[in-house]
Order: sequence, then structure tokens, then C-alpha cells
Amino acid sequence: MLSEWLDWTLDEQRDAPRQGTFASGHFEITAPGVLRLTPYRQRPDAHACIFSAAIHGNETAPVELIGAWLSELEAGTLTLGAPVLVILGNIPALKAQQRFIHTNLNRLFERGITSSGDEPARARQLMAKVDDFFSDNAALPKLHYDLHTAIRASLFSRFVVEPYADGDTDHEQWQWLAAADMQAVLHQHQHSWTFSHYSKHYHGAQSFTFELGRVAPFGQNDMASLTPMLALLGRLSEGTAPAQSDINAITFFRVQHELMRHGDDFTLSFDDDTPNFTRFTPGACLANDSQNGEYRVGDSPLHVVFPNANVEIGARAALLVAPCAPPTDD
Ligand SMILES: [Zn+2]
Repeated sequence: MLSEWLDWTLDEQRDAPRQGTFASGHFEITAPGVLRLTPYRQRPDAHACIFSAAIHGNETAPVELIGAWLSELEAGTLTLGAPVLVILGNIPALKAQQRFIHTNLNRLFERGITSSGDEPARARQLMAKVDDFFSDNAALPKLHYDLHTAIRASLFSRFVVEPYADGDTDHEQWQWLAAADMQAVLHQHQHSWTFSHYSKHYHGAQSFTFELGRVAPFGQNDMASLTPMLALLGRLSEGTAPAQSDINAITFFRVQHELMRHGDDFTLSFDDDTPNFTRFTPGACLANDSQNGEYRVGDSPLHVVFPNANVEIGARAALLVAPCAPPTDD
């Protein structure tokens, strides 16, 4: 039943049950693509967990990962011990196998946004679902893992973006991420209205955007590389302590600059297939913008992440990042 929820969502099956039970808890579909799981017995270490996927519709590996985790719950090989809100973000884009239909959903998670259209309406609905879930579980520590895959190849194939907001990330999170085989972490340097930022900024949740490999169609994802990530989701949903590893296995970066597109004519000065985290030396030209002219690397080298010359005018065309020391446990 649970594992069929993904198919119901994609097929828009109106006659699918709205709620029901499984071995260790009950489920409720509170909106299209929004599934709430409540354990019969909540464990003392439980977090209020949000696992979201398909905020970008063509990023299917996280959907398969959620499917594998739901199958374990359904089979009873995993016992739910924490409340979990599962979200499939952009269902029309997921069906169309596109990143988005009209605009990038992952820039719209800001209270009071006034824009109209399908994606802004969905962002408002999802923000309300997050608010309800965290307020109904106010006694528990809050956690939100927003699962993505990257458009391009990467020198670190699995990495995490830590949103910028008040509040520190718990040190144990880095140890969990190391055990889940995340290879790099990128600290954001300013507010950015992503879904993971929403939960951290407005709710103080432990929250990240995960990049779990490269975009591929359903059935063509490298799921074996995500086994440790599946184990992390499993432990969190059980409400038991996740595995920990040495955080020195992770390379940490901090965002130094956001390269924005301002002009009608905008080009990046490197090949389209340049992998994420590629390093550029001082003086290297990175972009040409009909409004802002050339952008060149300053005195210290920069690594390029998420380059995309085809973004809307006024949107981010790349993050420029530099290595930094791992966080200390204080
Ligand atoms: Zn994405």
C-alpha cells in the first residue's frame, strides 16, 4: 500500500485511499504528493523528519530512494519510530520529466510570496504542510532532508548544501553525513529561498539540500551508491541513532560569490560539460554578461558549482566556492 503511493501520485489516482495502516504506524495523504506517517510507538530519540524529493521534476534518484525506504516500512523490515512527512514536490514536472513547468520551484519558499501560477501555489501549499507538521510535533527536534540530483557531473558525486540561516548545524549531522557517504559540504553564505532553507530559517530545523549523483531517468540511477543514504533515512525513521563516521572524510566549501545573470546575452566561459567543483585559477574569465561585462576570478582560486547559463535573467548562473576548514565540535 505505502510503496504504491508513488504510483498513485504519478497516476493522480483519485480513488486511492486517503489513509490507512501498515505494520508499525498509520499513514495519511494530506495533499497530492504529501504523505504523513505516524508511528504507533515513538522512540525517545525521534526527530520530526521531513524527507522531500522531486522539487525538481527530472531528479528521479531521490524518488527511487524514497520508494525503497517505503518498501522497507511496508515489508516490516523497518519499524517506524518517528513521525515523517514525505513530500514529492513538483508532480506535473515529475510526470513530464522536466526540472519545472513554468519556474524553478526551489526559489519560491519564502513566506508572503505574492507571485501567481502553479509553482508558487505549490510552494505555498508545501510551506503550510511543513508548518502544520512541525507544530504538531513541537516537542521533537526538527529535521528536513531535501533530496536532489545535479544536472551535471561532479568531482564530488554526492554532496550537501547547508542553507544559510541563524542556528548552528549539530555536529552529529556532519558525522551522519560522512557515514552516508556524502563527499562534500557547501555552506551557503546568504539567504536563498530553497525548501531546505525554509525549514532552517523559519523553524530552526537541521536541514540540508542533498545532491545524490547526476540526473537520470527512472531505472537508470546508480542506486547502489545510495545504500548508505538509504540506511540514514532508515535510522531516522526508526528514531534510532544513525551511523557516524569521521567528518574529515568530507571536503568542506564555503560560497564566496553568486554569479548572477543580468543581461540578455550571457555566456559562461567554460565547456558545458565542466563538472561541479572544477577549480579555476586567479584571473580566469568565468562569464560574459551583456550588462555586467566579464567576470574574472580574483586573488584566490574558485571552484564552480551549479553553473547554468540558461537561467532566467536575474537568477543565479553559478555558485563560486572555496575550500574551508571542517566545522569544530563546540
Ligand atoms: Zn534539484
